[in-house]
Amino acid sequence: MVDLQTQYAEIKDAVDKGIADVIESAAFVKGPAVETFARHLEEYTGARHVIPVGNGTDALQIALMALGLKPGDEVITPTFTFIATAEVVALLGLTPVVVDVDWETMNMSPEAVRRAVTPKTKAIVPVHLFGQCADMESITAIAKEHNLFIVEDACQAIGAEYTFSDGRKMQAGTMGEIGCTSFFPSKNLGCYGDGGALFTNDDELAAKIRAIANHGMVVRYHHDIVGVNSRLDSIQAAVLEAKLPHLDEYIRARQAAAAYYDRAFAGNKHLAVPGRDRKSTHVFHQYTLRLQDTDRAKVQTYLAEKGVPSMIYYPVPLHLQKAYQDPRYKAGDFPVAEKLSASVLSLPMHTCLDAEQLELITRSVKEAVG
Ligand SMILES: *Cc1c(COP(=O)(O)O)cnc(C)c1O
Repeated sequence: MVDLQTQYAEIKDAVDKGIADVIESAAFVKGPAVETFARHLEEYTGARHVIPVGNGTDALQIALMALGLKPGDEVITPTFTFIATAEVVALLGLTPVVVDVDWETMNMSPEAVRRAVTPKTKAIVPVHLFGQCADMESITAIAKEHNLFIVEDACQAIGAEYTFSDGRKMQAGTMGEIGCTSFFPSKNLGCYGDGGALFTNDDELAAKIRAIANHGMVVRYHHDIVGVNSRLDSIQAAVLEAKLPHLDEYIRARQAAAAYYDRAFAGNKHLAVPGRDRKSTHVFHQYTLRLQDTDRAKVQTYLAEKGVPSMIYYPVPLHLQKAYQDPRYKAGDFPVAEKLSASVLSLPMHTCLDAEQLELITRSVKEAVG
């Protein structure tokens, strides 16, 4: 699904030098490499503060902690997403309220969010799924109206740009009170292990986030709030520092592969290509088809025989996951998400797909659906 070896070969010198510098300096934790990368990511995203942490899941957890949410507070998330989005809500004793998504963009439906707001709602966590921003114009309006926080799950969408109707352009992760991203190796900006970051434009929140990520400590060994230990290590920061200058070119490579897929599948009655939201660019963390009137399991088997990997992101929506069973929800409650779970198929997507690979993949997919 991803080819990190070919990508590494292209940037080997810069990565190796960055890692060697960290080892020689022995500043493995909280070293200058982390600060340098954070400042460069601030410049890239336009976020006033970038606070690196251990991974994207930690970023989401720390975000909810920093906003001072209390057990019983309701947090609205889409039901069609990666588990981490709701996991941290549950872990903190908050109440996840899940909503359905839009069939075309596969992102959180603003109408569903509006219907889910109650007096207990405190925050909305939109997920910019597969690399395309959720309908932030509508979600921001709902949040304003009801005085709710927005924590963006931008783990799949770093570098995606959203244009509001008044012309303002903002990057994924910089539109809400807090944005969260992940540097998991396969993400669009991936390190060689685990990593993540929070984005905020609010100085006070930034200070609180820094303290929470560091054992709730502001002055050394004085703990004002309960925190966690979550940090990006310097070696990962050095890898990210070497990759960040290439992010735009990586995004363009993904978009070019997506355009090839779009052209190859246009008009095929079994294949619906990913729907686009005109307000957002799409950075294609995943290229996800919706299959129609064809047997997905057979399609996957055929592709595997041809040496073409494919994956189902995500086979079970949150409300039907065993650990998240809740008397409030049952099968059939979120028909779009359930239909997506039964029909999506993600194709190989990375920065080094060549014409030969794209030709094999698209030909095999078309043969597989008949
Ligand atoms: C990857 C991902 C996360 C979690 O990131 P980790 O760094 O793996 O903890 C959270 N939400 C979404 C949507 C993701 O894709």
